[in-house]
Amino acid sequence: MRGPARARLEIDLDAVAHNWRLLAARARPAACAAVVKADAYGLGLAPVARTLRQAGCRTFFVARLEEGARLRAHLPDAEILVLDGVGRGEEAELKAHRLVPVLNQPGELALWRRYAAARGRRLPAALHLDTGMTRLGFTPAEFAAVEEEDLAGLEPVLVMSHLACADEPDHPLNAAQRARFAAASRRFAGRVRRSLAASSGIFLGPDYRFELVRPGVALYGVNPVPGRPNPVRPVVRLVAPVLRVFTLDAPATVGYGATFEAPAGARIATVPVGYADGLPRAASGRGRARIAGIEVPFAGRVSMDLLGLDVSALPEGTVAPGCEVEIVYGPEGVDRLAAAAGTIGYEILTRLGRRFVRHYRGGAA
Ligand SMILES: *Cc1c(COP(=O)(O)O)cnc(C)c1O
Repeated sequence: MRGPARARLEIDLDAVAHNWRLLAARARPAACAAVVKADAYGLGLAPVARTLRQAGCRTFFVARLEEGARLRAHLPDAEILVLDGVGRGEEAELKAHRLVPVLNQPGELALWRRYAAARGRRLPAALHLDTGMTRLGFTPAEFAAVEEEDLAGLEPVLVMSHLACADEPDHPLNAAQRARFAAASRRFAGRVRRSLAASSGIFLGPDYRFELVRPGVALYGVNPVPGRPNPVRPVVRLVAPVLRVFTLDAPATVGYGATFEAPAGARIATVPVGYADGLPRAASGRGRARIAGIEVPFAGRVSMDLLGLDVSALPEGTVAPGCEVEIVYGPEGVDRLAAAAGTIGYEILTRLGRRFVRHYRGGAA
């Protein structure tokens, strides 16, 4: 009567490789790294990273030491940088996995330098400069105070900063951050790579690219230029089977809180996708799904494991248990769901990856 009751997250690794090549071509002559923190934005660190490595990517960023250690096991020959930097007691593990800490403050620089000195080894380090995000990184004053001898025993491999408003091309902070970064990093120009742009920053123009760009979310299909056509290919599709269908012979409400009233004659389909799977509850009554190419609205509140859809627009008899429903689909699927939930594609992606069965297509999986 019906097929398996499980939803699946389809991940198109060929699209990830395509997006990396597209961004790399756009960024040239700057090199193109890949940000694979948070389990490659929820899509699976190992298959995504192996695919990117095969596409030609050599430099990878993760957020946490554990992520870097995991990644090293899959990419023996890549350069791996850890954005969270180095904490006390983490030095040996960083070195054991040949991870490069992104030093975010003077204390981290001192810690990493002491470790290098104690080991009698020159160790690679990236330096992060805060130019207007006020999150991580040396302030321009702290950075100016770093003398050459403070770097003794270290091999600076990258100087970087991060843009706060790169997805708003007209925001004045972009040019201000660029100017601060260019000025503060000038002493390293020509001998150490500099990096400012993530996904959206690549599209702010050549002045923002320096020697290395570090896209994350655009690799995974999220539009780096909101409001303009998406230049990257969609990567994820979320598909779920219909569990059951109601055809109402009298008006009824749907779901918790009885927030949705369906008239007599309406048809309501239930699918096994809920907020515990990463479908935001905030998309209740606002999201849309697609069945047989026809868009249908969410009906009522998103439950923990289930979602109702108003399928009245589809001809009677066409929606039955086992029918496939697309919850994330099309060229801006992640962005559309994010907009319906009042959030951003980043948050949708990083939450979707946990509970669904993942199906990979193509790539180096
Ligand atoms: C997450 C992150 C990136 C990647 O940003 P996207 O917007 O996903 O491209 C780059 N640099 C830093 C410092 C980050 O934290």
